[in-house]
This record gives sequence, C-alpha cells and structure tokens, in this order.
Amino acid sequence: QTTTKPPPTPSPLRFSKFFQPNMRILVTGGAGFIGSHLVDKLMENEKNEVIVVDNFFTGSKDNLKKWIGHPRFELKRHDVTEPLLVEVDQIYHLACPASPIFYKYNPVKTIKTNVIGTLNMLGLAKRVGARILLTSTSEVYGDPLVHPQTEEYWGNVNPIGVRSCYDEGKRVAETLMFDYHRQHGIEIRIARIFNTYGPRMNIDDGRVVSNFIAQALRDEPLTVQAPGTQTRSFCYVSDMVNGLIRLMEGENTGPINIGNPGEFTMIELAELVKELINPKVEIKSVENTPDDPRQRKPDITKAKELLGWEPKVKLRDGLPLMEEDFRLRLGVSKKI
Ligand code: NAD
Ligand code: UDP
Ligand code: UDP
Repeated sequence: QTTTKPPPTPSPLRFSKFFQPNMRILVTGGAGFIGSHLVDKLMENEKNEVIVVDNFFTGSKDNLKKWIGHPRFELKRHDVTEPLLVEVDQIYHLACPASPIFYKYNPVKTIKTNVIGTLNMLGLAKRVGARILLTSTSEVYGDPLVHPQTEEYWGNVNPIGVRSCYDEGKRVAETLMFDYHRQHGIEIRIARIFNTYGPRMNIDDGRVVSNFIAQALRDEPLTVQAPGTQTRSFCYVSDMVNGLIRLMEGENTGPINIGNPGEFTMIELAELVKELINPKVEIKSVENTPDDPRQRKPDITKAKELLGWEPKVKLRDGLPLMEEDFRLRLGVSKKI
C-alpha cells in the first residue's frame, strides 16, 4: 500500500502573493558587443538579476564597467566549453566570437565553443529548468540560393571551408537546441541574427561597418573587398536587443530571423560612410576572402507576425551614433 505524502509546504516568502522573486538571467558572452547592450537593457528592469560569464576573448570588462559592483549584477570569467554550475531562470547564450578574423584565428576553439559550449548551457538549462535562447546567425544560410532568406530555407554551406567552424558550428548548436527540446522538453528560443552594428564594436575586428568607420576617421582609404557588389543588411544594436528580448519573452521557439531588411552593396555602404563621416576619404578595392556570401537580406515576416517586432533605426541614422563612440575611443574630434 502506498502512503500519500502531503504536498510540500510552499515557502511563505517565495509564494506570498505580495512577493515576486527576481528573475535571475545568465548572459554568456555578455562582455561582448551585443551581449553588453543586452545586459544594459536587462538591468533597466529592477526585477532582473544578471549574471555574465565570458572568457574575454573578444569581449572586455570595459563594456560592463557601469554595472560592476551593482547588487543585481555579477561577472564571472568562465569559458563555456567547461561545465558551469549556477542557478538561473533564463539563459541568453551568446558566447562565440562573431567577427571572421576572430573566429578564424582558432577555428578548433570556435567549433568547440559552438558545440561543447552550447551542450553545456543546455545541460545547465535542463538541470535548473531554465529557458534558453541561442544567438544563431544568418551564416547558417551560407552563400544563399534563396533571396531574401526565410527561416524555411536550409542553406548552402561549405562544410569544409574556412568559415565552416562558425557556420557549421552554429548549425550543430541549433540541432542540439532542438534535440534537447524534443528529448528533454527544454524551453528553447533560436534567433538567427543578421549583421548588426553599433557602439562598442571592436575597432579593429575586421567587420565591414567598424572597418569603414575607423578608416574614415583615420583618413585611410575604405577597403571594399572585391567585387563590392555583394550585399548585407545591417541592423542597429538597440533594435537587435529588443528583438532578442521579445523572442525570449514570447511563446515561439524559432528559429526566427532578426535583422534589418534594408539591403546595401559594400560599395553603397562605403559611399554612405564617406558622405556622412569623411567626404574626402578614398574608396579602394581590395582582395576578398574565400566563401564570402554574395547576398544577404532577412525575410522578417515571422518576426513581425509572431513577435510584433521590426527594426526602427535606419542605417543612415545608426552610422552617426556609432561614429560618435568611435571618435571618443580613437580620440578623433569632429572638425567644424
Ligand atoms: P562579440 O565577439 O563581441 O561577443 C562574443 C562574446 O563571447 C565576447 O565577449 C567573447 O569574449 C565571448 N566568448 C567567446 N568565446 C567564449 C567562450 N568559449 N566562453 C565564454 N565566452 C566566450 O560578438 P557579438 O557581435 O556581440 O556576437 C554575439 C553573438 O551574436 C554571437 O553568438 C554571434 O555568433 C551572434 N551573431 C552576431 C552577429 C553580428 O553581426 N554581430 C551576427 C550573427 C550572429
Ligand atoms: N552541465 C553544466 N551545468 C549543469 C549541468 C550540466 O555545465 O548545471 C554540462 C555537463 O557537464 C554536460 C553537459 O552540460 O557536459 C550536458 O549535460 P546533460 O545532463 O544533458 O548530459 P550528460 O551530463 O548526461 O552527458
Ligand atoms: N568587407 C569589405 N571590407 C572590409 C571588411 C569586409 O568590403 O574591410 C565585406 C566582406 O567582403 C563581406 C561584407 O563586407 O562581403 C561583410 O563582411 P563582415 O566581415 O562584416 O561580415 P560577414 O561576412 O560575417 O557578413
């Protein structure tokens, strides 16, 4: 005969209708470009406690300096390829270098970060019952044969090229997310992020917007990689962060494209930077790197319908906001 145990008495503090516990949120890669802006937004809500883990490969404490010492904030030096024990309600999993020069620097480490890092964060989510959001990428579409890219498109990715550690790494990360969801019932969210720009990007990280702005401010020629007709669609970081939070808080697993559908060739981008920042600067054509996608533009119908989200900041308005930050960091004042 089985005896029925009485249900456990809820802790009066935790379950009192007057007391709502804080939401404890882990942000991996929170010292990086997008991560630090996400932390700023999450910290605005007084009910949030934020824990950042980062190995500082491409991120820096400087990006988080205004939160260090804050009672609702904690920063840990930690590599996500190692197991992590923390108790949290939500995980924003961003840890991974995003710029080609950094993710190609140690490709084996990049794929370990994507695969073992994501596995560890999913193991953590499973143990503590947390919801987990992965920042995947438009690179899962590779050099796309469908334009603009919808979430249904499976992509055209080289499995053995120099970008594969990143592209295929993120594809495996997405697979792991869905397998943990189906097999263990983990609550998952997947964002496919398209090129994002804004203040705090690493000045010399090789990405096109940061390169062009730094070059324009240093009076160096803007290096358009051949042929220059390849396209990208650039999303301002505040729009990106709002999209990520909408996705985490909503009911859809994704994958959902988050990006700005305004599409520009690299020549058009160079001309816009020249017009807005330094009309005297030269534009020159330089050699490209292998496997460079020829075109990229998100179809954001899903984000609009399912998240009620769309970007608000146009490239023309976002570039000057980034210029201001780069001027401060490079010590170049505006000529009047
Ligand atoms: P970033 O390089 O500025 O930030 C990545 C952060 O992760 C850094 O702080 C870095 O130190 C940290 N990190 C890297 N490897 C780690 C590891 N093994 N353990 C712990 N921390 C580690 O890049 P970002 O632009 O802020 O990108 C953030 C996320 O968004 C990444 O997952 C990236 O793949 C994704 N994403 C970004 C873009 C973009 O245009 N910026 C586009 C698509 C996807
Ligand atoms: N893991 C972690 N933190 C946790 C729980 C798990 O880092 O709080 C790691 C764990 O070390 C393992 C991975 O997540 O490598 C996957 O965990 P899971 O429990 O799913 O798999 P298992 O440990 O059974 O292989
Ligand atoms: N690019 C360029 N000049 C630069 C750096 C990049 O013309 O100084 C081009 C590059 O060839 C690519 C596009 O800009 O077509 C975007 O490159 P980035 O590295 O910023 O991002 P991703 O290739 O990951 O989209």
